[in-house]
Amino acid sequence: MLINAPRGTKDILPDQIKNWIAVENKMREICARYGYDEIRTPIFEHTELFQRGIGEGTDVVDKEMYTFVDRGNRSITLRPENTASVIRAYLQNKLYAASTLVKLFYIGSMFRYDRPQAGRLREFHQFGVEAIGEGNPEVDAEVILLALDLLRELGLEGLTLKLNTVGCPKCRPVYRQKLTHFFSDKLDELCGDCRTRYEKNPMRILDCKIDGGKEFMEEAPKIKDCLCDECREHFRQVQELLTAVGVEYEIDARLVRGLDYYTKTAFEIRCDELGAQAAVAGGGRYDGLIEELGGISTPAIGFALGIERLLIALEKKDRLPKGEDAIDGFVVSMGAAAYAFELMSALRRAGLRIATDFAKRSMKAQMKLAARSGARFALIVGEDEVRDRTVTIKNLSTSEQSTVAFDDVKEAVVQCR
Ligand SMILES: [Zn+2]
Ligand SMILES: [Zn+2]
Repeated sequence: MLINAPRGTKDILPDQIKNWIAVENKMREICARYGYDEIRTPIFEHTELFQRGIGEGTDVVDKEMYTFVDRGNRSITLRPENTASVIRAYLQNKLYAASTLVKLFYIGSMFRYDRPQAGRLREFHQFGVEAIGEGNPEVDAEVILLALDLLRELGLEGLTLKLNTVGCPKCRPVYRQKLTHFFSDKLDELCGDCRTRYEKNPMRILDCKIDGGKEFMEEAPKIKDCLCDECREHFRQVQELLTAVGVEYEIDARLVRGLDYYTKTAFEIRCDELGAQAAVAGGGRYDGLIEELGGISTPAIGFALGIERLLIALEKKDRLPKGEDAIDGFVVSMGAAAYAFELMSALRRAGLRIATDFAKRSMKAQMKLAARSGARFALIVGEDEVRDRTVTIKNLSTSEQSTVAFDDVKEAVVQCR
């Protein structure tokens, strides 16, 4: 019996890889421009890292983690996101020693045990950046701009930047109190989850998928009326910087983040192609996380985007890269296997892309394969060529044919590239 891949996982097949590589290349290119260095952290970590770094009481930690006990009796979890791991690596490797602002990016698979749906797999891929060490609004604006530049340069249109602030430990308690008061006579109208949120974290009621659209939500207290001076000024400056570089945004008071370590800026980028409510990227400031993970209080901000969802949006926009990678030559051999092998190896070592057929088919069949391979040239060798140490080159688009010395093949092929 054949064994299939587990539910919620997907093979990325050779004909899709070029899309992934194109997207990843663009990510690396933009990050280089903005001065972000790549980091690769382990796929699995101690479970405690995510319990503390994402937070118990969140769906991710309570319901969606791939957690198991390893043979050494440790509780291990496949990473459900990468921020906690990056911060752990930052602290463990003392990256702060080299510079006050450490700018990192990552590309890799994450794992969540969720109901699989289009663009949301159990093994999925994220790109993200983390800027650790500075609390300036310039860093917030830079991170947002990086995300927008990436999506625009990949060819996505119809992008909307949603912006909000979630305050800080100084001003948020006031806001929470107002929310608690506001919802106290509406509990009957809220869903079950929100009744729990009411006790634990009433801010999260605001972005509930079930209750979020209800009419009374419009009247809910707004955080902007509760901000401390520092948070208010920070938010004003972020907006000023974005405006200065021509970035449009919408303030969305319902854009909240569930956990205490999130502070100040929260943002989301939505894309028409994914539906009105669907974010293609999301992030924000988390000045409280590093302390939560045992470091000294350090400001930081980041965002992440799901690559599968990005590819879906690009596909709908017809923005995926087109065309096959050209093959330079297809070696066709008539009873000259060793010579053909020598030719192919020499050309590959010289940097050319060479294909062939090892099945010793007829000349006609090999020529057909050569045409189908997309190669520009058939490089034909038989008894005559072996004797004269030559190669017959046939241009597969013009059918022009010529015979050149073995050592001149590379140049002949490269010239016509
Ligand atoms: Zn504040
Ligand atoms: Zn709800």
